[in-house]
Amino acid sequence: MQSLRADVVVVGLGAFGSAALWRLAARGVDVVGIERQGIGHPFGSSHGSTRLFRVACMEHPGLTPIAQKSLQLWTELGERTGEVYVRQTGSLNVGAPDSHPVSGARRAAAEAGASTAELSHDELTSRFPQYHVAGEDVAVWDPGAGICYAEPTVRAHVAEAQRLGATVFPHTMVTTIDLSSGSVTVRTPTIDIQAEQVVVCAGAWLGKLVPGLPLSPRRTPLFWFQPKDLASDAFRLENFPSFIWEFPDGRGLWGHGSDEDFGVKVGLDGAKRSRDFDPDELDRYIHPREDIAELAAAIASSFPDLDPEPVKVIPCMVTDSPDGQFLVGRRDERLVIAGGDSGHGFKHCAGIGELLAQLTTKEAPYTDASFVDPMRY
Ligand SMILES: Cc1cc2nc3c(=O)[nH]c(=O)nc-3n(C[C@H](O)[C@H](O)[C@H](O)COP(=O)(O)OP(=O)(O)OC[C@H]3O[C@@H](n4cnc5c(N)ncnc54)[C@H](O)[C@@H]3O)c2cc1C
Repeated sequence: MQSLRADVVVVGLGAFGSAALWRLAARGVDVVGIERQGIGHPFGSSHGSTRLFRVACMEHPGLTPIAQKSLQLWTELGERTGEVYVRQTGSLNVGAPDSHPVSGARRAAAEAGASTAELSHDELTSRFPQYHVAGEDVAVWDPGAGICYAEPTVRAHVAEAQRLGATVFPHTMVTTIDLSSGSVTVRTPTIDIQAEQVVVCAGAWLGKLVPGLPLSPRRTPLFWFQPKDLASDAFRLENFPSFIWEFPDGRGLWGHGSDEDFGVKVGLDGAKRSRDFDPDELDRYIHPREDIAELAAAIASSFPDLDPEPVKVIPCMVTDSPDGQFLVGRRDERLVIAGGDSGHGFKHCAGIGELLAQLTTKEAPYTDASFVDPMRY
């Protein structure tokens, strides 16, 4: 058994943990990252090619500064590495004027200063004829939005952290986080690490490592589609930017057009999905009836020029909290956590990594993150 000492250990190097590792290493902190799988693996919540990036965040206006911090940090990282981590093509929040996407984006604009533009029903349907909009739906245009790149970003965070001096143990499972002495001991089958603090970002497994959190893993596959007319460029990203669309029955679609060689990504909000399972037991099979039929029907009626049969489906999961907000903050003098992504965390991960680094090093946070404080539970 190997033993090590460090200032901080980060457990779990998915979206949140890889960003925390990077931002701690950027401050010269002696930091060790431990990941049960390989870096950028497909068994948690951060795999697949892309995620939606939004600035006028309907979920809470306090998220706007966090998305903006991610954008700033990824832009700086991209200038160093020559890679692009966010592509800003704008995005549409579509629905009835009082729907969550429309009213939430308006609230982010009013309270957090996110820049937005309103599209009437006629403007929406004439500028975006791909939408088959029943009723009088309108849209809020979020010009700073677009897509971000999931797996490459996680790998880039970890590579940058290592370049800045972080030590990383992939394929190493944390079995115990022992807070019983004056420091913290993080135990794995092959190495024990003693540290001043631990930052636990274990995604769907967070509740297993830190008991007492009200977290609920939910199975949520990722789907890709193709236009019926393969020669058409109507569903390319520049013509069909990212969107969230709420239907009158409360369900809704989200997605974005094809980028480079990726297909058109579309998912269904409000679909019946299994939840509260042990993430080690996630059903990784795709079931045509349960997983695809409801989404295919919604696509057939909403985007009639898309082939409703998916060309690719991969399993994934999100971890819900009761209020749909993250749990980011301190649980104990030596224990900081980030989780409860509730299906909208990727765009915020670099900004959350920065908050975690500031918390751990006792710097003032760059924004008020009290709405995600885990002590609210
Ligand atoms: C279908 C789908 C669509 C989504 N769409 C969007 C979107 O459009 N925009 C957006 O912003 N977000 C979106 N999200 C949400 C986003 O992907 C998540 O918020 C984010 O990936 C969560 O990251 P995480 O770090 O919490 O979890 P993960 O990335 O799963 O990281 C947790 C890590 O901890 C590791 N781990 C667990 N237990 C241990 C242990 N004992 N020892 C060591 N390591 C351990 C795991 O292996 C894993 O790597 C979507 C998610 C899904 C599933």
